[in-house]
Amino acid sequence: FDQREGVIWFDGEFVDWKDAKVHVLTHGLHYGSCVFEGQRAYGGVVFKQREHHERLRTSAEILGFELPYSAAELDAACEELLRRMNFVDAYVRPVAWRGSEMMGVSAQNNTIHVAIAAWEWPSYFSPEERAKGIRLDIAEYRRPDPRTAPSKSKAAGLYMICTISKHAAERKGYADALMWDYEGYVAEATGANVFFVEGGKIHTPLADRFLDGITRRTVIDLAKRRGLEVIERRIKPEELAGFSECFLTGTAAEVTPVSEIGPYTFKPAEITLGLMTDYFAEVQPKRAAAE
Ligand code: PMP
Repeated sequence: FDQREGVIWFDGEFVDWKDAKVHVLTHGLHYGSCVFEGQRAYGGVVFKQREHHERLRTSAEILGFELPYSAAELDAACEELLRRMNFVDAYVRPVAWRGSEMMGVSAQNNTIHVAIAAWEWPSYFSPEERAKGIRLDIAEYRRPDPRTAPSKSKAAGLYMICTISKHAAERKGYADALMWDYEGYVAEATGANVFFVEGGKIHTPLADRFLDGITRRTVIDLAKRRGLEVIERRIKPEELAGFSECFLTGTAAEVTPVSEIGPYTFKPAEITLGLMTDYFAEVQPKRAAAE
């Protein structure tokens, strides 16, 4: 991934993709003082770009550091990056971390670095997998208690258990893994939120202990626009047996139908497929209406 052609926005400048390097004594690498975003451009425009950049700043604040760029400056950097890369449909990855001046748990005076990279990335899950619904394993790790970890920050450190869980799932032939929360209720997948359908109503875990995804909130609005009831509540694992449809939401995952979670099976149907279509329409750049 580090040997591509192109440029990366790095601390306010565009550098050659291959030269966008950090020192091995970077605090963010050793101690996880790093936050990031995942955003997607459709037709050259990043969907809900400002919300993503504000979340990046908030994620950093939760970890105790302030980004040296405003959300508006990050918006401009991102737009210029897409122009220079000549990308229309792309994934955009902003990342911010503490630098290498001090090496130890304390790093009060380390420089805060920010970079933004973009690459073409059609679909997180392959189109074939997606249409049938993907299969999820049940992760061994649980999402941490908000008193144990900064669960509202999109912090790199929180992804350690996600990568372990996703790798374990992939080894068993699954596309991803579903994680319980610290109390044993349904939480989310390793990089996406989860929804269920039963009797024409949508159920999704309350997002007070893991990332309340931008896509999650978008899809809740789209469902309400369709006149569907959306119930945010604690969901017990054994309830999975009673749901007919299941899907994941996320910037990368978009709306992805799920066919299996461990022993439980689901069939993508009207509500999931309808919301996939609505989401696709929603993310298209809004053209100014002709007067
Ligand atoms: N949960 C986790 C752990 C994630 O990594 C993501 C992807 N950012 C999401 C949920 C979905 O968030 P969003 O819809 O804002 O991309």
